[in-house]
Amino acid sequence: MTLKELQALIDRMYSGKDRARGSPATFLWLVEEVGELAAAIAEGTQAEKAGEFADVLTWLTTLANVEGIDLTEAVRAKYGTGCPGCGEFVCECETKVVLSPGK
Ligand SMILES: [Mg+2]
Ligand SMILES: [Zn+2]
Repeated sequence: MTLKELQALIDRMYSGKDRARGSPATFLWLVEEVGELAAAIAEGTQAEKAGEFADVLTWLTTLANVEGIDLTEAVRAKYGTGCPGCGEFVCECETKVVLSPGK
């Protein structure tokens, strides 16, 4: 499954509910799932971790749908030509790049 296929699948599955709920409430669900991922990483099985990664990716994707963001295009635009910090495909930044919306 490609990212584009995932976004289309999640759109079909959840966009009706998620548009009705709105972005702020949908964002809270995403944050809750991020918390569940943190717990799974700390003390979960590989299967539990996999499930929580899937949940976080799905909530992030559905939020992108509500906001009208094409994730494939967004990732391609920001990372498709190299690291946003140094421009290299194998990052040579001294420290982790601080990714800001304006960058
Ligand atoms: Mg979960
Ligand atoms: Zn870099």
